[in-house]
Amino acid sequence: MRDIDHFIGGQTVVGTSGRYGDVFDPNTGQVQARVQLASAAEVDAAIANAAAAQPGWAAINPQRRARVMFEFKRLVERDMERLAELLSSEHGKVIADSKGDIQRGLEVIEFACGIPHLLKGEYTMGAGPGIDVYSMRVPLGVGAGITPFNFPGMIPMWMFGVAIACGNTFVLKPSERDSSLPVELGKLMMEAGAPPGVLNVVHGDKEAVDAILASPIVRAVSFVGSSDIAHHVYATGTSTGKRVQAMGGAKNHAIVLPDADMEQVVADLSGAAFGSAGERCMALPVVVPVGERTAATLREMMVPAMAALRVGVSSDKDAHYGPVINGAHRSRVEDYIQMGIDEGAELVVDGRGFQLQGHEQGFFIGPSLFDQVKPTMRSYQDEIFGPVLQIVRAETLAEAAALPSQHQYGNGVAIFTRNGGAARDFAATVEVGMVGINVPIPVPLAYHSFGGWKRSGFGDHNQHGPEGVRFWTKVKTVTQRWPTGGHELPRGSEDGGPSRVVDSSFVIPTMK
Ligand code: NAD
Repeated sequence: MRDIDHFIGGQTVVGTSGRYGDVFDPNTGQVQARVQLASAAEVDAAIANAAAAQPGWAAINPQRRARVMFEFKRLVERDMERLAELLSSEHGKVIADSKGDIQRGLEVIEFACGIPHLLKGEYTMGAGPGIDVYSMRVPLGVGAGITPFNFPGMIPMWMFGVAIACGNTFVLKPSERDSSLPVELGKLMMEAGAPPGVLNVVHGDKEAVDAILASPIVRAVSFVGSSDIAHHVYATGTSTGKRVQAMGGAKNHAIVLPDADMEQVVADLSGAAFGSAGERCMALPVVVPVGERTAATLREMMVPAMAALRVGVSSDKDAHYGPVINGAHRSRVEDYIQMGIDEGAELVVDGRGFQLQGHEQGFFIGPSLFDQVKPTMRSYQDEIFGPVLQIVRAETLAEAAALPSQHQYGNGVAIFTRNGGAARDFAATVEVGMVGINVPIPVPLAYHSFGGWKRSGFGDHNQHGPEGVRFWTKVKTVTQRWPTGGHELPRGSEDGGPSRVVDSSFVIPTMK
């Protein structure tokens, strides 16, 4: 059996805790590897490596740090096929989705290549007599990232890309369910020229996370995962004085107005509700058609579109989506489908019991569709995180718009309409962090920032973009006054003519 080891101080490190987690091949349902689960002492060793590397890394000038990021991007692109196959083999998403996962992470690395510009700070000359004020952004020290299973490439790169380019060193604790790709990213960072200890990857579960939260050396923690754990990380981390950003779960709504382009809506929902088996925090698992006719048309068109979806193994180039991450998660999704039935929703398409010929033990689920879902139902209120689409009917735009605003989660939302005024008002007022207008999955580009509201995001700063730079740096402001007098310097002439040296005997001291 293959072991997935830690990567600490630039080296593969075999765990000593004696604890392991199973990593499945979701296509076959078989355990394909075991991942080390670190003890608190092993986490502390990774943190110590990051701390030892940090002063040297921060002392390197920003453009040289950026050059490491440029090279890292080249190396990841060089290895794209291998990395995408590795990701798919542990996660189960189709290869095209794995490449998208890595590519979206690389876009943050591209952003990180330009970070020297964003670290420059501000300057006020002559704030008082002989006084200047300048501010700069300096790294925090050692940062940590704790990431979920569903984007093992993109989300680690959101975090360490920005943190490291800003001069921090990093300890990454990836999901224990698909842990191989993050180790490969750590190795490629070293190959790109990052000194050992700048990026460490330590595997583990709650014990490792709690060790990170307890460490006085770690100055900032970035977390992405489910909301209860996000809240635990936020509350514990901030109580020990850390800066924490903690992104949680989601239940994103698509509002469909009667004037929407229904063909586009159905095509977009097919991808956004079922792509990656619904295991995306920006998936669209709820659709709210406004008016009975809109609902009837949507339902009528959605059923054949779902029948055309091909569920297949992750290497199947024609498959729309693959298996879910493991058997426990498949059971959880199927339990939610049963809950929806028990609560009185109408199950229009049932994806339970789906078996792929030749892969009967794989963790596959067919697409499911519910109609007549009510906001009071728990199957609506909870995140299911599987290939299940729920129709919640509304009579008016106001009724529809209240649903995402009142939901416990506020990650993403989309509105489909040709009415610019309605879309604009909706975007301005909805209580959700990321809004799409005729765009189903409005994930902000790398140079903007990603983050949800309410139980989808705890903390003040979003991921990557300018918000990411603010999160991974602190501001230092210097007010300086130098003795004046005893020398004369060139001054501009009052009539705006050419400057002239008043006392040419004065020599400006040169820097040593
Ligand atoms: P998860 O919460 O189970 O795990 C996330 C991380 O927390 C993992 O590294 C895991 O090892 C660690 N962890 C697990 N149990 C813990 C505990 N008791 N104490 C401390 N740490 C613990 O999430 P997941 O199943 O890997 O990922 C899916 C979830 O992540 C979904 O809820 C999804 O919506 C969410 N997600 C959110 C975003 C976002 O940006 N808002 C993005 C991607 C995924």
